[in-house]
Amino acid sequence: MNRETKLLHAGPISDEGFRSLSTPVTRASTIVFPSSDAFERRYDRFYDGYTYGLYGTPTTRTLEARLAELYDADHCLCLPSGQSATALALTSLLKAGDRVLVTSAAYGSTRSFCHDTLSRFGVETVLYEPAAGAGVARLIDERTRVIVVESPGSNTIEIQDIPAIAGAARAAGACVLADNTWASALNCNPLDLGADLVMEALSKHVGGHADLLLGALVTRDEGLYRRLKDTGRTMGLGISADDASLALRGLQTMPLRLEREGISALTLARWLQCRSEIGDVLHPALPNHPGHSIWRRDFQGASGLFSVRLAPPFQANVSAFVDSLKVFRIGASWGSTQSIVTPQLDVSANQALPVPGSNRIVRFSVGLEPVEDLQADIEAALNALVADVVHEHWIDEEGTITTRGRER
Ligand SMILES: *Cc1c(COP(=O)(O)O)cnc(C)c1O
Repeated sequence: MNRETKLLHAGPISDEGFRSLSTPVTRASTIVFPSSDAFERRYDRFYDGYTYGLYGTPTTRTLEARLAELYDADHCLCLPSGQSATALALTSLLKAGDRVLVTSAAYGSTRSFCHDTLSRFGVETVLYEPAAGAGVARLIDERTRVIVVESPGSNTIEIQDIPAIAGAARAAGACVLADNTWASALNCNPLDLGADLVMEALSKHVGGHADLLLGALVTRDEGLYRRLKDTGRTMGLGISADDASLALRGLQTMPLRLEREGISALTLARWLQCRSEIGDVLHPALPNHPGHSIWRRDFQGASGLFSVRLAPPFQANVSAFVDSLKVFRIGASWGSTQSIVTPQLDVSANQALPVPGSNRIVRFSVGLEPVEDLQADIEAALNALVADVVHEHWIDEEGTITTRGRER
């Protein structure tokens, strides 16, 4: 045999006596079979075996098993992003002529996927108030197949009564898809609250370091899992072993990160409540939050993501406030070790339903920095805001009142 052929065919040396503490990264497109007969029968094991790298490797299957376990479920399918997971779930569950009900506080791209894409395939989307609870039944007709819940809502942090909504769905034979990205499996299990299918964007708390994009669908229903897996296959959706390995690493520290972020976020939320520059603090662990009692009933904790509205005199200055923060970096997404601030200048854009209160929201994703540095950062930005607004009108030595132009 030629040296070239030997090089091409060389397998790994024996791994006898080797056991890593971490999950090995197994990359693959082609998977080889011992015989043509085994190859012929490969799809017999499509749902739990190995057929082609796109449909699962030991690394990706390990991640799926871990997530299923965390949700006390039997099945998990990982996808390249949270958004692709939501899109796969909805396309697997809906067909032309169906209706889907979506909370108006849902992640923006969830709503866009329904309005812009599903509409072209004859699916009707109806937005409902996040606080609807059992009242969602009014919108359910015989064509309604899916109800999407997201608790709390991405920007405005409304808590939903998932058991009440799931009860209404079940009575009508519809299915509930829950976006559980805010809480993660550690702080809420929508499957225990009546949801049929959970979506979690692993890009957030599981990845945890702003360097990973993945999503997961988790269910206890084997038929539903198979449907998702079949549809995902025809769409060519799969994830890399490298990404799965990063997510597995993230899972190990997720409880510690979430705990620290949660404590810091609540500390900041309580402090912000007492600041005159702040109007509303939207954090479900605060007793005056409208969803507080449901949150206490259904959740085991809060993550590091919450929002505020500035007090009315400062609402025009959201951009100036956000621009003067230094420790909080400006961007989308959340769940990173580093704190992030997201200015939302029109939170009800793309929604049929108006949001009560100002449309201008500042969302904080609290990271792992010591909380006193985060508080000092916000305090300096609030002080600058006050100075800015107060100094807008000033009196010079001759007593002339001048209204100064906005500096920022
Ligand atoms: C980020 C996010 C998604 C989408 O996840 P990606 O991995 O960024 O596609 C979906 N829902 C919620 C609530 C999110 O925060």
